Amino acid sequence: MLRIGLTGGIGSGKTTISNHFRDTYNIPVIDADEISRQLLSPTGKAYIETVRLFGAECILDSKNIDRQFLRKKIFANDDLRISLEKIIHPKVQAEITSQVDMFDTKYCLIVIPLLIESNMQALVDRILVIDTSRQNQLDRVSARDQCSKDHVEDIVNAQMDSKERLKYADDIITNNGKREDLIQQIEQLHQKYLDLTI
Ligand code: ATP
Repeated sequence: MLRIGLTGGIGSGKTTISNHFRDTYNIPVIDADEISRQLLSPTGKAYIETVRLFGAECILDSKNIDRQFLRKKIFANDDLRISLEKIIHPKVQAEITSQVDMFDTKYCLIVIPLLIESNMQALVDRILVIDTSRQNQLDRVSARDQCSKDHVEDIVNAQMDSKERLKYADDIITNNGKREDLIQQIEQLHQKYLDLTI
């Protein structure tokens, strides 16, 4: 099975595009963010270690870990970020590998927003980067999340530069036009991935 790592900056269109692969071509999509969320849930394999690291103040009344609190803490403290990554990353990688083994298709998509930043390239055979302009990121995310463009800009600025990310790409989808403009690019890539597995 060919493993395609799909990555891109905030609001680049990772979900829109991976949903299209799944809904149109029945391609399995593994979502690293979803796996992290499950790992941090009260029954998840990273819950206890994470609470130990951040203390009881990271627990909400619902018993869930306050992910916003974690994000703020690690943003301001590199040592904490590294410690959290040591807890989460090996577990995310193990779960991705076990999910890949369950599918019986020619290829699958593994959506990992921080694929390059967290050095997970070895998990995938090819890297598909979704690229869009900074202005589109600001417009689309602020509309989707009902937040200010300044807030989105802070996140974009903290992420890897898009030119740098593109250096790692085996394949690129450019998402600067309408949603319909994605369809042909996705179809071409789908065909390419099938051809690569012959
Ligand atoms: P995140 O990094 O926040 O998880 P993402 O990379 O998964 O985001 P999407 O959620 O797919 O990105 O897209 C961001 C927003 O932009 C969504 O509201 C989506 O519907 C919208 N969008 C995506 N592509 C286009 C497009 N070509 N034209 C207009 N809106 C778009």
